[in-house]
Amino acid sequence: MKPFAFCPRCATALADRPDGRRACPTCDFVHWDNPVPVVAGIVETPAGVVLVRNQGWPEGWFGLVTGFLERVERPVDGIVREVKEELDLDAEPVDFVGLYPFPQANQIIMAWHLRADGPITISDELAAFKVVPTAKLRPWPLATGEAVRDWLASRRPGE
Ligand SMILES: [Zn+2]
Repeated sequence: MKPFAFCPRCATALADRPDGRRACPTCDFVHWDNPVPVVAGIVETPAGVVLVRNQGWPEGWFGLVTGFLERVERPVDGIVREVKEELDLDAEPVDFVGLYPFPQANQIIMAWHLRADGPITISDELAAFKVVPTAKLRPWPLATGEAVRDWLASRRPGE
């Protein structure tokens, strides 16, 4: 999400305060710009882990299934719903993997390991998917990749 340029209450242009916050000079609105929680799933099938490419991502980029939470939704239910919506798989949560800051997108990633089996049908949000055998899975240097790194480390202690 782009930062607000105008006050969403009174439409005055926001200004920078001395403390670095963007705020409305007319009313008391402050644009806190707090990180948005995002759920992510390491979806493990018998053939390996499902990675996806969102529409608009460069060719060759793949990541975890991710999504935003609905209002009044438990985070773990949110990732199960996202896996169903994006892959048409009924996934079973196995473990919570961890929390990962993603400051580039102003997000905080909550990652789960889930298991699923069955034919995959991707939603319109996705351009492609691939199933990577777990032994060949390599983490990438961004928030969801850190979750993959930690999950792999927990599976192969000492490696
Ligand atoms: Zn205002």
